[in-house]
Amino acid sequence: MNWIGFRIFLALVAIGLGALISLSLQAWLKMPVLANLIGVASASVGLLVLDGVRGHRLLSWLRGNQEVSAPRDTGLWGELGYRIERALRLREQALARERLQLQQFLSAIEASPNGVLMLDAQDQIQWCNRVAADHFSLDPQRDLLQRVTNLVRSPAFVDYLHQGLYAEPLLLANPRGPGSLSVIVRSYADGLRLVLSQDVTERERAEAMRRDFVANVSHEIRTPLTVLTGFIETMGSLPLTEAERKRVIVLMEQQTQRMLTLVSDLLTLAQLEGSPRPGGDRWIALDGLLSRVAADAQALSAGRHRISCLAQSQLELAGVESELLSALGNLATNAVRYTPDGGEIEIAWRLQSDGCLQLKVRDTGPGIAKEHLPRLSERFYRVDGSRSRETGGTGLGLSIVKHVMQRHGGSLEIQSELGAGSEFSLIVPAVRVRALAVSNVADGTAAISL
Ligand code: ADP
Repeated sequence: MNWIGFRIFLALVAIGLGALISLSLQAWLKMPVLANLIGVASASVGLLVLDGVRGHRLLSWLRGNQEVSAPRDTGLWGELGYRIERALRLREQALARERLQLQQFLSAIEASPNGVLMLDAQDQIQWCNRVAADHFSLDPQRDLLQRVTNLVRSPAFVDYLHQGLYAEPLLLANPRGPGSLSVIVRSYADGLRLVLSQDVTERERAEAMRRDFVANVSHEIRTPLTVLTGFIETMGSLPLTEAERKRVIVLMEQQTQRMLTLVSDLLTLAQLEGSPRPGGDRWIALDGLLSRVAADAQALSAGRHRISCLAQSQLELAGVESELLSALGNLATNAVRYTPDGGEIEIAWRLQSDGCLQLKVRDTGPGIAKEHLPRLSERFYRVDGSRSRETGGTGLGLSIVKHVMQRHGGSLEIQSELGAGSEFSLIVPAVRVRALAVSNVADGTAAISL
C-alpha cells in the first residue's frame, strides 16, 4: 500500500474511532453536539499524536548517527525515511568514489619521477609529491600552507615564480647539493600554479660530455689537417729537392695515419656503444689470446723490451674475441709505447679467489701519478700529451678497453706509481670463465719468455 492509501486508511480508522467515541458519549451525556465535538477532537488528537511519534523517530535518526538504518515505518513517514536514507547512501557512495579517484590521482602524481608542487595564489603550498619535497628540501606534511618562497630561497626561483614568464624552464642549482634541476611553472584555475621539477644532473653531464667530445674530436682532427695543409702549401710553392720532397711525404703520411687511427678508434667506440652486450656462449681459448697479444707486443717492441707471457692457463673466456683481443692488445701496446727501451713487460693471468679472471699487463715504465688514475679511461685524457701523440696515441685506447670490459660485465683496474711502473688489469667475471679440462688448470706460473 502506498503512503496516500495508508493515510486514507488511518483517517478512516480515526473517523471510525471518533464516531464510536461520539456515539458512546451521546448515550452517556445526552448532549449530541458536545459528544460529536469530543469524538472529532479525539480522532484528530489521535492522528496528531501518531504523526508526532513517527516524525520524532525520523528526526531523532536524522539528528543522530545515520550509519544505522532509518526507522522502518509504514506510510508517509516510512516513505520519507526510506527516501532520505537512500539519498544519503547514494551521496556517501558518490563521495567515496570521488575520494578513491582523488587518492588514485594523487598516487599517480606521487609515482611520477618528476616533482609536482601545487601553489595557491599566495605562493602557499597546497600539495607536493615526495620527489618535489626531495628536490626542494620540503616536508610534505609540515610545510603545507607555507609560502614556498620562504622555504626555497633561491633568488632565481623566487624571481621566476613572480615574473610569470613561464614559457622557458628555469635551470636551478639543486638546493640539496651538487646537480641541477629544471623547473617549469604552469598556471591553472584561479591564480593556482603547478611547479614541475626534474633532476637534469645526468642530462647536463651528458650534454657537457658531448660538447667536450665534439671539441676534442675537432681539435684532434684539425691538428694533423693543419700540418697537412702546411705541407701541401710548401710543396706547391717551394722548389724542393728530391730528399726534401721524400721527407715531406713521410711526414704527410704520418699525419694521415694519425687521422686514420683516430677515426678508426672513434668508429670502434661508436660500435661498442651501439651494439648489444655479447652473449655468454661464445668461448675463446685464453692461451691463444695471450700468445697473439704477446706476439704483437713483441713485434712492436722489436727487441727493445723484455716481454714475458704466461700462456698456459687451459682456460676459456666467453665473449667477443676481437674485442677482448683489442682490449688486452691496447694494454700491451701502451706498455711497449710508454716503457723506455730495456724495460720489462709482463703479460699474465690469475684466477682470483672469487672466481674472476685477472688478465694483467705490468711494465717497468715511468708509472703514473695518483691524481691521473681515476681519469685515465676518459676519452682523450692523456697524462703526457706530446708523448702520447709522438707514439701514435689517440687518447682513446683505455676508453675502448673500459667499454669492452663493461660490455663483458667486467672492469679495468689500474695500479701505478710514479717511477715504479704500472699494472693494468682486465677483470673478467667468473661466469665468463671456464676450464678447458679441470686437471690441467695450473696457476699460470710456468712463464714462457718470448
Ligand atoms: P693514448 O693513446 O694517449 O695512449 P690511452 O687511453 O691508451 O691513450 O692512455 C691514456 C693515457 O694513459 C696515456 O696518454 C698515457 O699518458 C697513460 N698511459 C697509458 N698506459 C700507460 C703505461 N703503460 N705507462 C704509463 N702511462 C700510461
